[in-house]
Parts: sequence; structure tokens; C-alpha cells
Amino acid sequence: MFSLFRKQRPIAINVFNTATRTKEVFVPLTRGVVRIYSCGPTVYDHIHIGNLRAYLLPDLLHRLFRYAGYSIKLTINVTDFGHLSDDGDAGEDKMMKGMKREGLAITLENMRSFAEPYIRSFQEDLRTFGNLPPTTLSRASDYVKHQIKLIETLVQKGYAYETSDGVYFDISKFPKYGILGNVDVSHLKAGARIEANPEKHHPADFALWKKGPLGWKSRWGQGFPGWHIECTAMAFATLGKQIDIHTGGEDLMYTHHNGEIAQAEALTHKEYVKYWLHNAFVTINDAKIAKSKGTGIRLSTLKEKGFTAADYRYWLLQSHYRTPTNFSYEALESARTALTRLKHMMYAELGEVKVGTVHDHYEERFVAALADDLDTPKAIAILWELVKDTSVAKEDKRATILVFDSLLGLGLSLDPHIGQAELGIHRDTDIPEHVHELVTARSAARSQKDWAEADRLRDEIASAGYRVTDTDEGVEITTLDIHR
Ligand code: AMP
Ligand code: ZN
Repeated sequence: MFSLFRKQRPIAINVFNTATRTKEVFVPLTRGVVRIYSCGPTVYDHIHIGNLRAYLLPDLLHRLFRYAGYSIKLTINVTDFGHLSDDGDAGEDKMMKGMKREGLAITLENMRSFAEPYIRSFQEDLRTFGNLPPTTLSRASDYVKHQIKLIETLVQKGYAYETSDGVYFDISKFPKYGILGNVDVSHLKAGARIEANPEKHHPADFALWKKGPLGWKSRWGQGFPGWHIECTAMAFATLGKQIDIHTGGEDLMYTHHNGEIAQAEALTHKEYVKYWLHNAFVTINDAKIAKSKGTGIRLSTLKEKGFTAADYRYWLLQSHYRTPTNFSYEALESARTALTRLKHMMYAELGEVKVGTVHDHYEERFVAALADDLDTPKAIAILWELVKDTSVAKEDKRATILVFDSLLGLGLSLDPHIGQAELGIHRDTDIPEHVHELVTARSAARSQKDWAEADRLRDEIASAGYRVTDTDEGVEITTLDIHR
């Protein structure tokens, strides 16, 4: 039987580690296992298409490590309380802002139920986008006890101090602070103007606990944990105290991820994360995606405009995850055209052929591209090279593209009949007899070079809801509304 996991041969996977700013060969902490943590969204709204780039990254890793025979533990979290809008310790709480928008009283119970539809929407978007399910989708409010415990230990060990408004991590106790993105804290201190919180020992000290009327009970009174501690607590609880890979958008490295390293390593005195991977941003009109500017485009927005999630995924795969990319509908159109051609190849041209043998040479090159810090543009180029290569037997082409798709997740592995239906291609038996007759008459007109009659018949076929296309393989009949 054909299996996507048929090889299991060791492959060297290289990743660009933000902590060392170099490409490194991946060596797991535990043989055969890879533990990945990805920072999830704050669930005060639906996610936008930019966010999806941050979840494409762990999914590509998931697929590549699965191919390489690893057992994968992937945690993605959702932040369902207390994420302050400026990424630091000040600013408005995004969850509370969302609750006010929906006219809800600010209570803990309301905050949990307010988050629920956005969590479901996030999961649904990931599924539609073609992501494999993560092993754990953790919800920050389910881990508050864990967070309080970690904060207590940090205070006991002298890494944190209490003030009138909370508990802060003392970065002077952690000299390594700021390795991601080379954050220079001495500069921060010198440059700091009026210190917003005079009780903080250093401007870069960050909140582990915020006191307030809303929240959970702790030895420091009522309140809620800071943003960074939630990810450390969930990573510890679901993956262990040392993890292989941690991912997130590049904006997270400076404050959030440096905060996570400081907390975790102060607690364990061991390296928290072996490889830090950060994705660059998707922009629209070369600017940040923002609902206020009308660019908060969601997958459902794309669907309304006739695009599929796979079209968008294909578009994203054309650029490397560390390169910023600017979204436009024109670019998405080209991606759709290319993907539709691939679907045609898989479902119309190769749909009826047997699955043959995976072509070693193409497979090696394709996997090597992905194993080189997820070089998806190169992988896509190799896929096209294979598609156009007439020297590869059809059966083997189909088998090889199936393996490629297991690594990209573009949805090219559907049952060919379902794939054909999606493309609007019908099997002969599905097409009404009178349409067949019109098509036969049109072919006859064409062979007699009676172009006027052929055009007239084409229009008549169109008014019956079908499109007729002349291909190298013969005449193809598709439904008009779905065919692109
Ligand atoms: P947030 O809900 O803002 O914390 O974002 C969730 C994830 O999406 C984080 O990893 C962000 O860094 C990432 N992200 C946010 N906006 C974009 C964007 N425009 N392009 C790529 N990643 C983004
Ligand atoms: Zn996080």
C-alpha cells in the first residue's frame, strides 16, 4: 500500500535560530521526539490572514518532522485574559476592550464565555487553512494555578519583587536578558524618560502579576498573571521544562519571548528553548494589517471574494517565512491560477491513473529545500519542475506529488472524484444527455471549420450551465459557476 511515511530515513533539518542568528542543524532534546510551542492569538476577535502566517510555520515544521519519522508534540495556546495592548505592562487590556465592544459586564465568567466563539473560530480557520491539528490547544485561563506557582517560586528565589500594583521580574538578576533581537537594556534605562511606574527597579522589569479588582486570588491579592508567564507555564505543563522549538511572529521576540526565557531559565537554570523561529509579517498596502484601516481581512473575507484558503496558503508558500510579504488580491489571483493548474493535474489528468512509485530524485531535492530552513519558494519551484517533466511516468508523478502535498498541505490529495467536482469537472455520466449532444455537434462543426456554428453551440452549452474547453487530451466539460 502507498504510504506517505515509507522512508523514515534520517534527514538533516536546518533551521534559522533567532537566538544565535545562524542556521543550525536540528538535534532533538530527546531522540525521535520534537517538542514545539507556538504563541497563539489573543481571542478578543477573529484572527486575520496575517496571523495565519504565524501558524503556517509550526504546521510546516509539523509536516516535515512527521515525514522525517519524529513523534511531534505541538502546543498552540490561546490568550484568553489580560493581554495588554502595548506588549509591555501598560495599555488597555485587549480582552476587556473586546468585552466592552460586545456590551458585556467585566467579570471572569463573562471573559471566558466571551472568548469561546473566537477560540472556535480560530480552530476552524486553522482547519480550513489546511493545518494538521496541534497535539494541544491550551487556554491560558486553564493554567492560572500553574502560573501562580511559577511566580511564587520566582519570588522565593529572589528573581521577582512585589510592588503596590503587582509582582515584577527583576531583569538585573538575569544578565542574559534580551538575547533575542539583541535588546540593549542599558540603553533602555538611559533612554527612559519619565518612568511610568516608579516602584519598578528597572524600566524593562516586566509584570508577572497585576493586582486588580478582577481576577484570581493569590498571595498578592486579587489579580491576574502577566502575559509572558502564561506561555512559560503552558509550555512547561504541556511539553516539559525544555523544549526544542518555539515559534511566533517576529514582533514577539523582543518583549514576550525575552520575558519567557528570563522566567523559565531563572526557574530551571537550564536552556529553555533550543531553537527560536520567528516569521516576518504579512503587510497590506505595505502597512500593518489593521481593522481600523479596513485591512483586517479574514479567511471568510477571501471566501466571499471567491478564493479558497488553499489559494491563500499557496500564496504564502511562495515567499520564505522570514521575508516580509505584501498581500494583494492580484497576487492572490495568480496564486489561485497556479493552484488550479495543480489541481487539474492531480484530479483531471492524473486522477484516474494508479499511484506509482515516488520519484527519488525529485523527492530528495524537494525535501532538501524544506529541510533548509523551510525554503518553500524553492520547494514550489521543484514541484512545478516535476509537473512539467514529461519523462516521469504519470503514476510516479502522482505518487510524488502526493508526498509533496503531505509536506505543504495544499489539499492536492483529495479523492480524484471529489477533486474533479470541486473543479467543476463532471464525469460523463453526470452531464445531461442533451449537453453531450451539443458538445458532439460543436466538435463536428469545428472539424468542418464552421466556426460560427461552433461558437453558437458553445453559447448554447453555456446557457445550459456548462463550459466546453479543448485540451490536448480532448474536450473537457465543466460547470460554469465553479470553473475558474
Ligand atoms: P496576536 O494575536 O496579535 O498576538 O498575534 C498572534 C500571532 O500572529 C503572533 O505570533 C503574531 O506575531 C502573529 N502576527 C500578527 N500579525 C501578523 C502579520 N501581519 N503577519 C504575520 N504574523 C502576524
Ligand atoms: Zn506566547
